[in-house]
Amino acid sequence: MGYLKQRNPFENALKQFDRAADALELNANQIVMIKEPRRVTEVNLPVNMDDGKIKLFKGFRVQHSIIRGPAKGGIRFHPGVSVDEVKALAFWMTYKCAVVNVPFGGGKGGIIVDPSKLSDAELERLTRRYFSELEDLFGPDKDVPAPDINTNPQVMGWMFDTFAMHKKEHITGVITGKPLEIGGSAGRAEATALGMFYCVREACAKLGMRMAGSKVAIQGFGNAGSHAARFLYEQGAKIIAISDASGAYYNPKGINIEAAIQTCSKNKRWTLDGLDHNTRVEKMDDPMKLLELDVDILIPAALEDQITEDNAANIKAKLIAECANGPITVEADAILDEKGCVRIPDILCNAGGVTVSYLEWVQNRMGYYWTADRVREDLERFMVTAFNRVWETREQYNVNNRIAAFILAIERVTRAAEVRGLYG
Ligand code: NAD
Repeated sequence: MGYLKQRNPFENALKQFDRAADALELNANQIVMIKEPRRVTEVNLPVNMDDGKIKLFKGFRVQHSIIRGPAKGGIRFHPGVSVDEVKALAFWMTYKCAVVNVPFGGGKGGIIVDPSKLSDAELERLTRRYFSELEDLFGPDKDVPAPDINTNPQVMGWMFDTFAMHKKEHITGVITGKPLEIGGSAGRAEATALGMFYCVREACAKLGMRMAGSKVAIQGFGNAGSHAARFLYEQGAKIIAISDASGAYYNPKGINIEAAIQTCSKNKRWTLDGLDHNTRVEKMDDPMKLLELDVDILIPAALEDQITEDNAANIKAKLIAECANGPITVEADAILDEKGCVRIPDILCNAGGVTVSYLEWVQNRMGYYWTADRVREDLERFMVTAFNRVWETREQYNVNNRIAAFILAIERVTRAAEVRGLYG
């Protein structure tokens, strides 16, 4: 995977910024106010392991921007986490929130850990230690985390509880992606994928493509990828390949996504392991080759830096919908532009997650909860409005969708910075 190559996603993010800032002709004062992260925090986290030993883990929280609102962004548990990765992810959150126009800045957190090697009790202790160590940063009007890779509603529940115990208050708005029983929102679990689905639907209409019958490959089968597979499958798309950390699975006739979801549910932790047993699905020798299959729609839904200058020329998809953050490098973008491959960029495509996180935060503040239909309607409105604004910007500036999304977002953040002025 890309992270093993030790690419630096933050450098990639800054190159994306520079392309859009050039198109906007931002001046040096405007750039200096919005480009670099505001605060980077690193902590060492000692945890009691089940065998009686104490193990030290490293954690981060980056607040890239609080110009348009409290910092907002998920917490990732993964062995490939680094401070540069978290800085990149926090940066993308700032501009993602601005693309969909929800009143947040950008933040992100992470712990360097392979959670599949921890017991549930160890995972809970690590989670609570992380949240308590960084407690002063968090709050509904300061910094509001959410799930990301390998963190789920249960982990959000432990974080919420840690904060509530310390503050002696029931502060639901400190975190989103919570279980429904403690102030989560209807529709949050599938929000990232549903937002992507609305974008793909709109893009297909613009490009004269049909979703039904389209051939699709999806890298990553967690929260974003599995729901993405389900939504497209329900619309009659043919999902010919899916993958996760256990490998890539292929069937040129189409994979039964309900069966794939069942396989994941039966495994102790959510993984596709065993999907190729007793089915027509075969395991691919090289999982990275999934990206190069002859498909109409490709959905990266795992990690960053997957499509690079090394494999971009081999990509055959007409449309790439970026459920993952940062899956395509700037160098690969240039190659894909030449090939006429259209991308729905991450800061638009996967913004459904933070949009419903915003709706969760609003409901928490009101103490009044909406139906799933109400949440869906709002999500669709936010996503379709943002999609259309990005498409108009692309035409206005004659740039690709990624630069267009950054132009739209950077303009919003810059205007907010200017009306606030500089304190001090
Ligand atoms: P998740 O932990 O639920 O799923 C991650 C998936 O990626 C798992 O299936 C995992 O096995 C797979 N994966 C890991 N290494 C892999 C490899 N080497 N090859 C193929 N697959 C691999 O995480 P998620 O929440 O679905 O996040 C996936 C992506 O979507 C991330 O880039 C994340 O930042 C982004 N995203 C998530 C949300 C959200 O609300 N969860 C919102 C916006 C963006």
